[in-house]
Amino acid sequence: ILTVTQLYAVSELKAASVASRYSGSRSINDRVGLTKGDITRLSLDAIVNAANTTLLGGGGVDGAIHRAAGPELLDECEALQGCRTGQAKITRGYRLPAKHVIHTVGPVYNILDPKHSAKLLRSCYEESLKLAVREGIKTIGFSGISTGVYGYPSRDAAEVACDTVRRLLAAEASSLTRVVFVAFDEKDMAAYREAIPKYFPNT
Ligand code: ADP
Repeated sequence: ILTVTQLYAVSELKAASVASRYSGSRSINDRVGLTKGDITRLSLDAIVNAANTTLLGGGGVDGAIHRAAGPELLDECEALQGCRTGQAKITRGYRLPAKHVIHTVGPVYNILDPKHSAKLLRSCYEESLKLAVREGIKTIGFSGISTGVYGYPSRDAAEVACDTVRRLLAAEASSLTRVVFVAFDEKDMAAYREAIPKYFPNT
């Protein structure tokens, strides 16, 4: 069972060999974390689901979230009438410890047009965070959008995730107090361990 104590603070992630792209900012770093495990166990204001355009459930993290939330989640999702790739919609969390679920639809990775895939993935993180701020959400956990069956390479996805989160936390209007990247497998965990120190360098 995942507990908050297993959350890695950004300051614990040191990668001596990576060059930082940004100067360190304590006020940003203190709000970012990384954890490994099942996102359905996290008591946050919102968890972000890697959904599909139907919003009617699926495999992977989507299936796990629907199972843990119970059938009321599907009822609410049905009323939303789907979601476009790169967009985000919000529901309640029902039986989950998280109060809300933000459903975003990641791109199926296109090896012939990785820039377009990146643009859509960036939009997922951006739209999810903007929606969260609009809804007064302060703490949020992201599953690895598109890094499962949608085939997005974990290292590239972690770069997009970190870059987008950093930009939004740097924006003055952001009321978010905690953004947690949730890695379910070792591949995503390794990708975040590598990317996080680049985008959130120690102050
Ligand atoms: P996508 O179709 O967007 O690729 P998937 O559900 O297949 O979505 O995978 C997205 C990510 O969610 C993957 O990195 C996968 O390891 C992860 N994942 C699967 N189950 C869970 C879970 N219970 N909690 C957190 N992450 C999970």
